[in-house]
Amino acid sequence: MDGRSPVRVLIVTGGHDFEREPFFEMFRSFEGITFVEVQHPDAHARLTPEAARGYDVIVLYDMWQPISEESKAAFVKLLRSGKGLVALHHSLASYQLWDEYRNIIGGRWYTEKWRQNGVERPPSTFQHDVQFKVHIVDKKHPVTRGMQDFNIRDETYGNFEVLPKVKPLLTTDEPTSNRVIAWTHTYGRSRVVYIQLGHDHYAYENPNYRRLVLQAIRWVAGR
Ligand SMILES: [Zn+2]
Repeated sequence: MDGRSPVRVLIVTGGHDFEREPFFEMFRSFEGITFVEVQHPDAHARLTPEAARGYDVIVLYDMWQPISEESKAAFVKLLRSGKGLVALHHSLASYQLWDEYRNIIGGRWYTEKWRQNGVERPPSTFQHDVQFKVHIVDKKHPVTRGMQDFNIRDETYGNFEVLPKVKPLLTTDEPTSNRVIAWTHTYGRSRVVYIQLGHDHYAYENPNYRRLVLQAIRWVAGR
């Protein structure tokens, strides 16, 4: 690949409703990106090294639970071989019973009680339509380069797990939210970005959110 050909994105959806039209309008607004959507239950067939060969980046915007051992192995193999991954918003709650998914994303939103360092934690929380301020941790990182702290109206998540290995990109002091709300890490040979933001059109239409998602896609693609 070179720096001029479009980044080819596979967007995975299913298992959670969203405002389709403004969501895909955001992707249509991105220069240098082509995208295709695949919905569960058809997505796992595309998340294999062979089937995903035509894509540079996988964007997860699904919230899905059932997955076969074969599909788990294929997805891990795909990432180990190097395929950019951007996980958005409710994808943090997928595959509650698959431990390795938490390592792939770098955290988990829990539907049930969970344990952290031997301490029992209550289930994770959510709050709709919160107006809050987002802080950029590192303005030199390619995903947040050129961005300033910004305001957004969006859904917050609280009491979710963030693994110590990740590098925080965004934080907030909003009390209904975890402090770290976006991060990056590597899984196998793949770059991974998780962004908690992105419930509905208030996020999709926010120019800061658009820039964040686009810069994340470019960075995980190695551009
Ligand atoms: Zn949501």
